[in-house]
Amino acid sequence: MQTLPNLTTVDNKANPAIFDTNIKRRKTRPVKVGNVTIGGNYPVVVQSMINEDTLDIDGSVAAIRRLHQIGCEIVRVTVPSMAHAKVMAEIKKRLIQTYQDVPIVADVHHNGMKIALEVAKHIEKVRINPGLYVFEKPNSNRTEYTNSEFEEIGEKIRETLEPLVVSLRDQGKAMRIGVNHGSLAERMLFTYGDTPEGMVESALEFIRICESLDFRNLVISMKASRVPVMLAAYRLMAKRMDDLGMDYPLHLGVTEAGDGEYGRIKSTAGIATLLSDGIGDTIRVSLTEAPEKEIPVCYSILQALGLRKTMVEYVACPSCGRTLFNLEEVLHQVREATKHLTGLDIAVMGCIVNGPGEMADADYGYVGKTPGYISLYRGREEIKKVPETQGVEELINLIKADGRWVEP
Ligand code: SF4
Repeated sequence: MQTLPNLTTVDNKANPAIFDTNIKRRKTRPVKVGNVTIGGNYPVVVQSMINEDTLDIDGSVAAIRRLHQIGCEIVRVTVPSMAHAKVMAEIKKRLIQTYQDVPIVADVHHNGMKIALEVAKHIEKVRINPGLYVFEKPNSNRTEYTNSEFEEIGEKIRETLEPLVVSLRDQGKAMRIGVNHGSLAERMLFTYGDTPEGMVESALEFIRICESLDFRNLVISMKASRVPVMLAAYRLMAKRMDDLGMDYPLHLGVTEAGDGEYGRIKSTAGIATLLSDGIGDTIRVSLTEAPEKEIPVCYSILQALGLRKTMVEYVACPSCGRTLFNLEEVLHQVREATKHLTGLDIAVMGCIVNGPGEMADADYGYVGKTPGYISLYRGREEIKKVPETQGVEELINLIKADGRWVEP
């Protein structure tokens, strides 16, 4: 038999925050990445990454442009070699000549210090992974890390990181310290284990080096492929930064989320949960699909949370025995006719019994009235009853009469 949980009463007066329908974002410093700013009071920034090899200049320019045109505000590329880093100068030049300047972040991996220094000249932001930047091959015979060994590697990291930090600082460019759960440095694994704490300490070690060189254009990420790990790591990072008086913006993502419906749900579970807590200033949804498919997911997450409004917000009931028309089909028709009207809220509800009350604060409503007829609403006011066959057309006419229509 199922047992009922013990219900506790919530003291609303003691928890005024539960009445707040707006997300309160964690206060962060603004970090400029070319003409886009991450953090501060700026909207959450959408990012993605091209799959092209940057040695393919034409292909890369086209891919960056394609992503930017559909709303990707910062585009990431990977530069595995010095040749890849050098060619970024030409890619940037061609973007500006044939399209426009696009903020670019370049990913640098294993022992990538020289590559990072080169690419920092051509693009706006460099992403380094603390676990790989000074890469020590894991030693399977090792049983411990002494303090002096730990510090010795720390010193080596400082020496290799310093020229990059100085270059980015002097050019007013940015750095992402991108920790990945799957690639923590061996000495962090020995000291903290394969844990969110190890991820946070990895980032803090790099942040402290940057701060000692008076460089604070930093964005931090704590990605993991398992959502609970990622959530714990970001939350711990935000808490540790708050305690330490650090206000760096966070870049959110779930790595290796996969594809299709589950990939989207997994990414949303991680990203949206943190955003709803006020954590996160830029997001990337990583799908095993064309990068163009990632952008609509980012915008849907931000729109659903009320953090950005980039499309029409549709409110529609799930339909039930009271539904007076084919709701799925009508919703599809309404969406096709109005999806370009960014900023409007439109409701499609199956019946007048619950429809008008439940369509929230939609600007317009399409509600089943009697068999064969629907009612059009402006806000909570019923405007007119029309035959269902003219419903979509009359809805458009109403929006036009209000001066809120724009041609697609
Ligand atoms: S609005 Fe009406 S039709 Fe839609 S689910 Fe509620 S009761 Fe059913």
